[in-house]
Amino acid sequence: MVLAVAVIAGAVNAARALREPDEFSETLYVFGTLVEIVIRDADPEVARRAAADTGRLLTGLHYDWHAWRPGPLVDLNMDIAAGRARRVDLLLAEVLRQGQRLSCDSGGLFEPALGALVALWGFHADTPPDGALPDPAAIDRIVQSAPRMMDLRIDGAQISASNRSVQLDLGGYAKGAALDLAARRLEVMGIANAVLNAGGDVTVMGDHGDRPWRVAIRDPFGWGVVASVAMRPGEAIYTSGNYERFFEQDGDRFAHILDPRTGYPVRDIVSATVLHDNSARADAAATALSVAGPDDWAQVAADMGIEAALLITDSGAVLATPAMAERLEGVGDDWATALKRVDLPAPLPHPDCAQIVP
Ligand code: AMP
Ligand code: MG
Repeated sequence: MVLAVAVIAGAVNAARALREPDEFSETLYVFGTLVEIVIRDADPEVARRAAADTGRLLTGLHYDWHAWRPGPLVDLNMDIAAGRARRVDLLLAEVLRQGQRLSCDSGGLFEPALGALVALWGFHADTPPDGALPDPAAIDRIVQSAPRMMDLRIDGAQISASNRSVQLDLGGYAKGAALDLAARRLEVMGIANAVLNAGGDVTVMGDHGDRPWRVAIRDPFGWGVVASVAMRPGEAIYTSGNYERFFEQDGDRFAHILDPRTGYPVRDIVSATVLHDNSARADAAATALSVAGPDDWAQVAADMGIEAALLITDSGAVLATPAMAERLEGVGDDWATALKRVDLPAPLPHPDCAQIVP
């Protein structure tokens, strides 16, 4: 079962291939996926340099923010476990502050401090786990120790935590945060029109010539394209799903998205897709809505400032906010009948969150 979003304009090519005239593309493997950078309407030499520079940025962030390969985040996690403070580079400090804000806005359902739990379930590896389920007592110990992004103290670039069980795993929003930075870098390098496609999670800049960039949404229960979205300049569309990384045991599926309240993988949501103008927030919200489940997702979307979201439940329900439903074009017949609009409630106040900048 795959809900993939794909940029319609052309197939993904090998590294540094010219596509249409006026289009330059480069592909690299970072954040566990192929990231394709497509640049339009730029002088070829400017495009080449901008793509190379942005590629280096992404490769560096992939290393710096990695949750289990030796590097700055792993070092920080060791210091947190030992009760020590550590100075990190400014981009890492900034992404942690952003994670704190996103976690707070989600009411704690998006919780990048849960690295110990992700590791316990065996997802700190390049391939999905195939061993036994974790010991329930060990799961419970981590849940009881309640690691939270709010336990972090971020003083400039000096990081410490009031709770030693905090273990940072940025997997739920690192891709989005990195692509926000990549788009900013491309802009500084003189690029106006580009798309960054990270395995179906897409951030766009500008447009595709005289038309918008279009992203296709594929049917999670089949192979057809069910709808497409015409992207506005600067928008991002991110999807989380229980089909992305998981293992199965006795017919049960255990996915890599974990519910901080129970310590167990989420079950009821097949996929959650979020359209927003900040990629990190779109990425975090897609993860948070998967955790929130069929009953609570609309409240969490509202709390996170998300207007356009699409959810598919494991019972086959297709739920969209009115803002998302309006943006889905060319919806196939089956989908059109299945699509149910869900109004967003008023956001609940989270007064603690306002004091976290950004
Ligand atoms: P995504 O595909 O963006 O939903 O991210 C999934 C990844 O986020 C997992 O592989 C974990 O590294 C991490 N993760 C799992 N559960 C959560 C959660 N509740 N909040 C934040 N990150 C999570
Ligand atoms: Mg995410």
